[in-house]
Amino acid sequence: MIPFIDLQAQRLRLGGKIEAAVQEVVVGGAWVMGPQVRQFEADLAAFGQAKHALGCANGTDALALPLMAWGVGRGDAVFVPSFTFAATAEVVPWFDAEPVFVDVDADTYNMDPAALERAIEGIRNEGRLTPRVVIAVDLFGQPADYPAIKALCDKHGLKLISDSAQGFGCTIHDAHPLKWADVTTTSFFPAKPLGCYGDGGAVLTDDDELAQLMDSIRVHGKAVASDLKDGAFDHDPKYLNMRIGLNSRLDTIQAAVLIEKLKVFAQEIEWRGAAAARYNDGLRPHVAKVPDVPAGNISNWAQYTIEHPNRDGLAAHLKEQGVPTAVYYPIPLHLQPAYEHYPRGAGGLPVTERLKDVVVSLPMHSDLDAATQDRVIAAVASFKG
Ligand SMILES: *Cc1c(COP(=O)(O)O)cnc(C)c1O
Repeated sequence: MIPFIDLQAQRLRLGGKIEAAVQEVVVGGAWVMGPQVRQFEADLAAFGQAKHALGCANGTDALALPLMAWGVGRGDAVFVPSFTFAATAEVVPWFDAEPVFVDVDADTYNMDPAALERAIEGIRNEGRLTPRVVIAVDLFGQPADYPAIKALCDKHGLKLISDSAQGFGCTIHDAHPLKWADVTTTSFFPAKPLGCYGDGGAVLTDDDELAQLMDSIRVHGKAVASDLKDGAFDHDPKYLNMRIGLNSRLDTIQAAVLIEKLKVFAQEIEWRGAAAARYNDGLRPHVAKVPDVPAGNISNWAQYTIEHPNRDGLAAHLKEQGVPTAVYYPIPLHLQPAYEHYPRGAGGLPVTERLKDVVVSLPMHSDLDAATQDRVIAAVASFKG
């Protein structure tokens, strides 16, 4: 079987650098919030064109941090796509707010600005919930339509989060999503394009006040500089608790892994882009749709996803040929048992409900070679279903 994602090939390519970095942390002993965490945060902020980057425990907590900082709670509406991983919506009911599910664009699979506008107006007219936040997702690595979504957020007074757990590193005319979003969140789960060797996440923002609040919240609501400006506290500010927070730190070992992986990340995004272009050329005649990215946008190709009318038949055929596939996502969130009672945007989610039956993702990673791609393309071309 061809690997779906080959992370061992990446580890071997890096030639012992990751093992050495981990060893340094083990010997150094600063296992929590060690110097590698600060260094990685600085490197990540520079890469993501952000004033501040803060590590946290995972990409789900990363979404919770800004919601907590903004005091999102009961009676608030947070607009999210349904065609995404559960974490995007899951954090909203943590604080008794409600996710409102919005349909996606049929080409990019990202939040459709027209559907978002219908959803906001529907919620306003109904009057039960107060629109507060939009969480746009960079699904499969491709940037959401931030210029259009940001314009709607400004018009309606909403905060904007870019959930870049899959898409970190994606750009629109060389600008990262943070150019439009109040905060970008990401995940370092191993299978994400920038993954570590366990769980990890981060938030990036240009907003000084928000950065301080999130720094406080990730360490049990500890006092930060803005809390202490009117008076001194003679002990460790960790023991002055200003607000309810979390324990959500990035481990030093994971930061050490990520310092090495971030050095090669830009190069890897280019390799993945070249592999996607090669797949597109080879597969276009054989499937209903290959993933084209709008001009000016760069995807990090977290997933390479095609459409086929007999998706399940194709997946079974590929498996016989030794080619693994995955379906993201077979059940969109608004149809899941845990989420089906939450509001949906006016007009429903017809695109999302069609996509769930036709999408299938093929092997994609930074070390995918041309010979392996040719095997995948030949296996798809030989399907007569
Ligand atoms: C993976 C993922 C998350 C959550 O990240 P974890 O680190 O697993 O908590 C959030 N949103 C999206 C879109 C994801 O793909």
